[in-house]
Amino acid sequence: MPEGRVFPVWRGIGASSGGGGGWSQGWGQCLRWESDSPGEGARIPVFDYPVWLVFCRRGRARLREVCQRGRGAIRLPTDMLSIKLPQLFDIHQVPKVFREENIISGYRHPRSSALDCVLSSFQMNNETINIWTHFLPTWYFLWRFCVLCSTLNFLTDSYTWPLLVYMLLICIYPFTSSCAHTFSTMSAESRHICYFFDYGALSLYSLGCAISYGYYVMPDCWVNSLLHQHFVPIAIGNTLFCTSMSCYSRFLEVQFPQRSKVLRTAAFVVPFIFDTVPLVYRIIVCCGESCTPSDGLSNHCYHLLFAFLTCFLFTAHLPERLAPGRFDYFGHSHQLFHVSAVVGTHFQMEGVIADMSSRRAWLTAHGAMPSFLGTMGALVVSLVLNLGVIGIFSAPLLWKPSRSPNQSHATTCECKKH
Ligand SMILES: [Zn+2]
Repeated sequence: MPEGRVFPVWRGIGASSGGGGGWSQGWGQCLRWESDSPGEGARIPVFDYPVWLVFCRRGRARLREVCQRGRGAIRLPTDMLSIKLPQLFDIHQVPKVFREENIISGYRHPRSSALDCVLSSFQMNNETINIWTHFLPTWYFLWRFCVLCSTLNFLTDSYTWPLLVYMLLICIYPFTSSCAHTFSTMSAESRHICYFFDYGALSLYSLGCAISYGYYVMPDCWVNSLLHQHFVPIAIGNTLFCTSMSCYSRFLEVQFPQRSKVLRTAAFVVPFIFDTVPLVYRIIVCCGESCTPSDGLSNHCYHLLFAFLTCFLFTAHLPERLAPGRFDYFGHSHQLFHVSAVVGTHFQMEGVIADMSSRRAWLTAHGAMPSFLGTMGALVVSLVLNLGVIGIFSAPLLWKPSRSPNQSHATTCECKKH
């Protein structure tokens, strides 16, 4: 197979580098550096054989002999020793839609293939930590979910269904976010669609919070109130508002960055405030037994602290705003935002589980038992509606007339010129 077909998007990328060399086509671009000056090549130490053989007596000569005999079999490992990962770009070398505020370097190619994107998660670039700070917590939440599956009866005990929905959604949102960060550099359109799914998963997570709070966290005096009875249907409406607003905000990002930021922040803050009102009332105003100090309440307080920190990091763009370019790879606000969100979710999960166990007797005696329709049914309805919203916002991007080969070449050249 011709090399260009394997990684067509890497064609011609390397000419932009200022190091005096160039990347060869296809796989060669990630495997081997070709020097421009003939004399320079000799100075670059490239091992054609395993390092340990250099130290063996006549090791190199023996290896050469083996290589000549079975070239095809032995070339793969020797080539792998000289693997070089795809080139990264600075902010002025990528189109505006890919640029992040105050992140100057470490950008991946804006037309990477799916495989490039997966490989790039093992290469240090400005998205790597974003990917892993949500991929690893996915496994942590999955592990907690599996432990709960072995101790609770999710199949027949309807009291546990709100927790089941919540656990499903706290596994899904970090995984979706991790995928969005991984595949966001395939094209401008795919970047938007990836983040549409990310926002959709986050708004579904807000529904998971509403369902679990509605059944386990609600203060005693609000149980069976009008708000309690309509808590989940309103939360479904909130997910639609959240997904629509956040998806729409992407279309304003390049032209009106401030307006886009305000819209997106509002999109996530509104469902958060709605979900949290009963908890805050329970903590501050206090009524009945539900506000006596407990493990559940202290975990909820930690969650609220981290939720405020998450919101602050999302809007403030600190610390990279103070030193643009210094936190491109480690420590920029989006990475801290991911970590803070995950730690907050951990405390929230502990709080929900603690409330669920400690308030079981009171809630089953005074409140209505969770129904299948009010828990799994609400999740399925909200999922379908939110997928519909994502479909509506994605359709114009997917139906856009595909670029002609000349146009696509021009995009690649844009990277070369700068
Ligand atoms: Zn993110």
